[in-house]
Parts: sequence; structure tokens; C-alpha cells
Amino acid sequence: MIAVIGGGLAGTALAKLLAEKKLNFDWYRDKTPSASHISSGILNPVTGRRYASSWRYDELIAAATVFYGEFLKPVRLEKHFTPYKEESSMDNIIRGKENYLSKINEHWLEVKASYQLQTGAFIDYYTDLLSEKHAVIHQAFNHGDLLPDGNAWTYRGLIYSQVLFAEGIFVRNNPFFNYIDFQPNRGEALLLDIYANKPEVVKKYGKFICPFGEQFWVGSSFDKVDFQVPLTTEKTKQDLIQALPNLIEGTDYKILDHQGALRSTTFDRRPIIGEHPQHKGLFIFNGFGTKGASLIPWCAGQLFSTISDSKDLYHEISILRLS
Ligand SMILES: Cc1cc2nc3c(=O)[nH]c(=O)nc-3n(C[C@H](O)[C@H](O)[C@H](O)COP(=O)(O)OP(=O)(O)OC[C@H]3O[C@@H](n4cnc5c(N)ncnc54)[C@H](O)[C@@H]3O)c2cc1C
Repeated sequence: MIAVIGGGLAGTALAKLLAEKKLNFDWYRDKTPSASHISSGILNPVTGRRYASSWRYDELIAAATVFYGEFLKPVRLEKHFTPYKEESSMDNIIRGKENYLSKINEHWLEVKASYQLQTGAFIDYYTDLLSEKHAVIHQAFNHGDLLPDGNAWTYRGLIYSQVLFAEGIFVRNNPFFNYIDFQPNRGEALLLDIYANKPEVVKKYGKFICPFGEQFWVGSSFDKVDFQVPLTTEKTKQDLIQALPNLIEGTDYKILDHQGALRSTTFDRRPIIGEHPQHKGLFIFNGFGTKGASLIPWCAGQLFSTISDSKDLYHEISILRLS
């Protein structure tokens, strides 16, 4: 029997994968709102102001497309072009990345091969579906009750051969893995109703606008913060409001909500995955930063291969790179 800890995108993906492999597991998920619950779910092949290619994007997308199924949709993503340095022209940026970038006009680029994951719908769907055959326990997992027992672990009378921790930034409370320096990065977003001229594409002009269920999502911010901080700030709210005229035509909209959450980021911007170096049977699946939607399905497959077939993880994502 396996235990999965965490009800964000990472924990949901692990639970889904274990169910598909016909393995028995219990899934502990508390109800704390987290990064997954306010993620816009965008997957795109370029990163940052320099349009750097996203790491292993084609492989990640191949895995994501199969894994998410109908919850993942291709989107048209249009990005306003702001040169990083004066000499970086749009033609220079596109050169060599024609599969991913094309010029719309002097000011706008299309970022091809972009997708959006309906993250909340995916999590809710699999929480319901998996609870038909597996124990989905809507409680915080209390690390203090997890005790070694020979080659296994006991937890409140249950025996687990493996415990997979997918706790996002809340890993800070996990005494087995809190030696790893996962850094909190706060992201905030607005949720809007738009009544006229609804955007038909995902747009980025400073900030992103994209559909979010029946509403629209505008974000985000990236603030390195301490763990104990407010999740929303008035300053960022005002920054997001200031971005709206570049993203929406007219003013026929209403701001419904302003939300924030902490992403779990790492020193080298790669996830940290694998078995605890001393405590055999305990695994970490964390550090997905700003790219959980694209990274998680492929990384879940990697973790599964290491558990079931003792395959080595790629060094770039392995916990072993910390030692
Ligand atoms: C504003 C914002 C916008 C974003 N937009 C995008 C985007 O467009 N594309 C993209 O790819 N990524 C985006 N991200 C990042 C993405 O949200 C994360 O990479 C991803 O959701 C991380 O998922 P996770 O499951 O690892 O962590 P989390 O979402 O933090 O989930 C961890 C869960 O585990 C639960 N948990 C923790 N400890 C315990 C315990 N002991 N017992 C029980 N449950 C526990 C927590 O309550 C939480 O629900 C965005 C993030 C933010 C904040």
C-alpha cells in the first residue's frame, strides 16, 4: 500500500497515475487553497523576457497531452513584444524558434504550441473519480504519526511501503524533507467577469489574461517572500488593475476576486524528486515553481519508473543532485 500526500496538481497526478497502474493507495489531501487552485494553467514553450526555450518542452507536452486528456486545450497565445535589450529585435528573437514563435505585426508575437489546463476541473474530477475505489482522506497528514516499521512505515495503524509527499510549499512543515531549501514565491491574480468584448485569445501584455471557467483571470506577480506573509497585497492588486487597459477593450467588466498563493521554487528552477537519502520509502515530488502544469505529468512518470523499476531519475530533477 502507498500513501500520497497533497491535493494540489502534483498529488492529484500521482494518485491518478497509481490508479492507472492498478496500485493500492490512500490519498491524504487537506483543503488549504494552494498554488494549483489559482493557477491559470498555461503551458507555453518560451520563458521570460528573453523568450528562452522551456526545458524539454516537446517531451513534456507529449506526456501532458496524453495525461490530461480533455482537460488540456490548445490556445492561441499572443504576446506583446517588449525588447529585452534595445538591440534584440523581434526577428532575432524568432530566429531558430520558428516552431514556437511567429510575428503577427511589429508589436505582437504568436507563441505557438501553447495550451491551457483546466486545473481546478482536473483536480475535482479525479478527486471524485478516485474516491470510488480508493481512500481519499480529506485531512492533513500528521508527519509526527509516521513511524518506521522494518522496511515499511506505519501511520495510525496503517502500513505503507512508500509515502509520496506532494505538499507544495507546505513541505516546510515536513520534518523529513524540510532540510531542502524550497523557496516560497507569491503569485497573485484577479478574477473578472467581462460583459462585452470578451478576449478571444490568451494575451500577454505585461500580465496575462485568459479564460478561467466562466470568468477571466489576470495575473500574475512573482515575489520572493517569506513563508509567513499575506497571500495578497494591495500593491499587486493595483499593478494588476493598471495592466487591464492593455488587455481588455473598454471597461465593461467587474473585478470579482483577488487571490494569491505560494509557489514552491528551487535554487536551479527544476523540480526535486526522489527517495529520501536516509529514510527509505519516503519520496519527495515538489518544486514545480511556475511550470507545474507542463512538468508534473512527465515528472510523475519519472517518479513511477524509479519506484517500480528502480530506474535512475534524470540528474536535473533528482534529489541526489543536492548531495
Ligand atoms: C498565481 C499563480 C499562477 C500560476 N500559473 C501557472 C500557469 O499558468 N502554468 C503553470 O504551469 N503553473 C502555474 N502556476 C504554478 C502552479 O500552480 C504550480 O507549479 C503547481 O500548481 C504546484 O502544484 P503542487 O501540487 O506541487 O503544489 P500546491 O498547489 O501547493 O499543492 C499542495 C497541496 O498539498 C496540500 N498539503 C500539503 N501538506 C499536506 C499535508 N501534510 N496533508 C495533506 N495535504 C497537504 C496543500 O494543502 C495543497 O493543497 C501558478 C501559480 C500561481 C500562484
